[in-house]
Amino acid sequence: MKLSQFGESFGADAGIVQLMDDLGQAVVTNRDMLMLGGGNPGRIPELEQHFTKQMQALLDDGESFQQLIGEYGSAQGHPGFIDALARLLNEHLGWDVSAQNIALTNGSQSASFMLFNLFAGTHQDGHSRRIALPLTPEYIGYADQGAEPDLFLSARPRIELIDDQQFKYRVDFDAMVIDETIGALCVSRPTNPTGNVLTDEEIHTLQSIARAHDIPLIIDNAYGLPFPGIVFCDATPIWDENTVVCMSLSKLGLPGVRTGIVIAAAPVIRALTGMNAIMNLSTGGFGPRLVLDLVRSGEILELSRSLVRPFYERKCLAALEDLNARLAGYPYRAHKPEGAIFLWLWFSGLPITAHQLYERLKARGVLIVAGHHFFPGLQQHWRHRHECIRVNYAGDTEKVHAGLAIIADEVRKAYG
Ligand code: PLP
Repeated sequence: MKLSQFGESFGADAGIVQLMDDLGQAVVTNRDMLMLGGGNPGRIPELEQHFTKQMQALLDDGESFQQLIGEYGSAQGHPGFIDALARLLNEHLGWDVSAQNIALTNGSQSASFMLFNLFAGTHQDGHSRRIALPLTPEYIGYADQGAEPDLFLSARPRIELIDDQQFKYRVDFDAMVIDETIGALCVSRPTNPTGNVLTDEEIHTLQSIARAHDIPLIIDNAYGLPFPGIVFCDATPIWDENTVVCMSLSKLGLPGVRTGIVIAAAPVIRALTGMNAIMNLSTGGFGPRLVLDLVRSGEILELSRSLVRPFYERKCLAALEDLNARLAGYPYRAHKPEGAIFLWLWFSGLPITAHQLYERLKARGVLIVAGHHFFPGLQQHWRHRHECIRVNYAGDTEKVHAGLAIIADEVRKAYG
């Protein structure tokens, strides 16, 4: 079988494919594996009850259920949900959007795939353009999304040390090279894997750079405001006609229904709607239907503020305190946790690589993700990427802390 270059790029050599295989295999090998590796959200009982109630009401009203499963929806996405979301964004955030600024996708993962290949790759003028990631570490899921090879260009951040056990990455605007070879800028905010939340000032500067080069700024808001709202610091949700904001229902507790949301200028939404039609005919309606009443009533904002954020903030602080105590005196720092569902740990001068640490932890029944995967498009050698790991703290508290104890133990052993 001969595959095209495009086909080859989806094979087993893709980093994310290897990683997902490895995570899947590890669980088969050891069913008691402590899963601090993937991106699953935590389980929030009140939200689970709400979704169950919505599903039951849908089943009880047989006609609505039949419509949902028995008809293709629109390629742009559930119209009632899109209208309700436009109203919510206007009323609560003052964004000035209408239905023509919103498209739904089957997960925000597929939204980034479509957007990257819309703006980067070979253009009509014959020139090839790339996606610039102004700050690495950045989301591993972008790494293999180019329909053409070598789609990303990224820059090292500045590192700001905070007290004895924390640090924060800042965009190094001097290191960013933006010229006619760049088709769009993209940042995740909050950032997966670090929990960094780019400041309003950093976002405004990126917006002006994007505008000056007539390219869009893509903000991946999968964990951000106004929902699911896993943000622990002051941050303004920002959008304008030159900014593409991607959102998701996954981290609200619905990764299985695969709903992504894109808010962008009307021509971008039309292009995404066309891509949806070509690739999927229409987008799934379950996710939008399960949260429709929460969006219509605006209750989704209050739930995010009063339930989702505190749920993660509590877990995050407990995990951090635990690690700080266990690794006191070692050259360990955690990225300042400002949002998302991960701790990003940096073991300066670690005598083994993060990949070796990952292997040792896996052998002891703990799954994490080694840091070097999170630097798509970074061309320079940088030891730092082999000194960091990502830990998901959203799961069952006892299991998370059992995992942290083993991580700390292995790190202490590695330092000797
Ligand atoms: N963007 C970021 C930053 C993520 O962390 C994830 C998933 O973990 C996604 C996008 C994809 O989310 P979805 O489940 O909506 O495809």
